[in-house]
Amino acid sequence: MKYEAVIGIEVHAQMLTDTKIFCGCSTKFGSEPNTQTCPVCIGMPGVLPVLNRKALEFAIRTGLATGCKISSHSRFARKNYFYPDLPKGYQISQYELPICEHGCIEIVVDGEIRKVGITRIHMEEDAGKNIHEGDGNYSFVDLNRAGVPLMEIVSEPDIRSPREAAEYMKKLRTMLRYLGVCDGNMEQGSLRCDANVSIRPVGQKEYGIRAEVKNINSFKFVEKALEYEIKRQIKVVEEGGKIIQETRLWDSNRGVTEAMRGKEEAHDYRYFPEPDLVPMVVEQKLIDEIRATLPELPDAKRERFVSDYGLPEYDADLLVAEKTTAEWFEEAIKSGGQPKTVSNWMMGELTRLLNEENKTMEGCLLKPAQLAEMLKLIDKGTISGKIAKTVFEEMYKTGKDADAIVKEKGLVQVSDEGTIEKAVDEVIAKNPKEVERFKAGDEKLLGFFVGQVMKLTKGKANPQIVNELLKKKL
Ligand code: ADP
Ligand code: MG
Ligand code: ZN
Repeated sequence: MKYEAVIGIEVHAQMLTDTKIFCGCSTKFGSEPNTQTCPVCIGMPGVLPVLNRKALEFAIRTGLATGCKISSHSRFARKNYFYPDLPKGYQISQYELPICEHGCIEIVVDGEIRKVGITRIHMEEDAGKNIHEGDGNYSFVDLNRAGVPLMEIVSEPDIRSPREAAEYMKKLRTMLRYLGVCDGNMEQGSLRCDANVSIRPVGQKEYGIRAEVKNINSFKFVEKALEYEIKRQIKVVEEGGKIIQETRLWDSNRGVTEAMRGKEEAHDYRYFPEPDLVPMVVEQKLIDEIRATLPELPDAKRERFVSDYGLPEYDADLLVAEKTTAEWFEEAIKSGGQPKTVSNWMMGELTRLLNEENKTMEGCLLKPAQLAEMLKLIDKGTISGKIAKTVFEEMYKTGKDADAIVKEKGLVQVSDEGTIEKAVDEVIAKNPKEVERFKAGDEKLLGFFVGQVMKLTKGKANPQIVNELLKKKL
């Protein structure tokens, strides 16, 4: 029997507001424990929450970008449970009337566009953090995170493979970053994901029983955890067992998912409308105002890069994954760079150098205009394509202009035939065996001779002239 996977993803995205969702405390990450708290977010009795307008605007912004319907009427609900990081004993969330519903995100997998439905996007407050450090006799509670605004973005079970799940996560992250509503930092927990997965025989319409996998904090782990979980479920079924609805934890060290709690132990949250907050009425005027401020989104940008600059889909897709990268690219074009050439340098050398230092485009010293200037030096024949790599690396490391580096290091390309001829003669004289083999028909050896001449001239000889002279002399 062949099985297919059915996957739906719940994402918690921390919104980039300066202050918390129901009070004025700062949301800054990494401060001393409990220094960003007040009676509202530590749950003192008798205090009243007030909704952060920016959080509402960010949720609407995200809803509009994902094609959701924005609810004109929505409200908050209390989700009740007991845990030390939740001083009120309930989390203020949204339940039956979320702010956004029925949207969709497009992903590209193996060159094919797939649509993943968005069931809902709702606002809620984050809980605090329990810290288990020290000699093990006690734990700490840090409430700096309590009340930080989150969006929960729930997808339809439209995803069919771990790869698609990872692509969905990447796309969502890219969009949230374009919109400026979340920094997408999975390591710091500003973007967290729970993956629901079930299997069914290919051809069957009904969904199978799902397991919810928690504790996934990277794209790589989304894929790994789901691959493991799908194999596990298939094995259970093939051995005659039954899948049970449960919550499982991904253990990245061991590469396995483990049962955490079953349906019987599932929480009954006793949701009820939050009496301390008035129902929200969102007027069309506000929605229109927010819509007018939406940036060009990655899908539109990708299509434009393909049509305006003649880039392959593959290049365009990589370049629009980060807004700063896309902007860098367009700046280089404005400074006179040829689109495909700029793209090649960005996806090749620049990415390599950034990865070496674990840096992103934000920390890049090199300016787009500097790359464009260097490309002009190649076009003019001042430097060879090979030397350009050295120049590029130096530009990247020092932020200096190509011109200055070429002068400083004496990297100007040698196109003087006399000088190159000398080097060619020397190489031919030094390698009589290779010359014989070449003359006997082993033409692949031309590359060897070119290499030797380049070595002798420290990479500065004009390769075109080297080739011509070698062919003539050999
Ligand atoms: P819960 O709060 O119990 O996790 P939600 O409705 O918030 O329920 O989220 C359910 C998630 O599980 C959604 O992303 C949905 O697409 C997904 N899902 C629902 N049924 C299945 C199924 N049979 N197999 C896989 N995923 C599913
Ligand atoms: Mg849920
Ligand atoms: Zn507070």
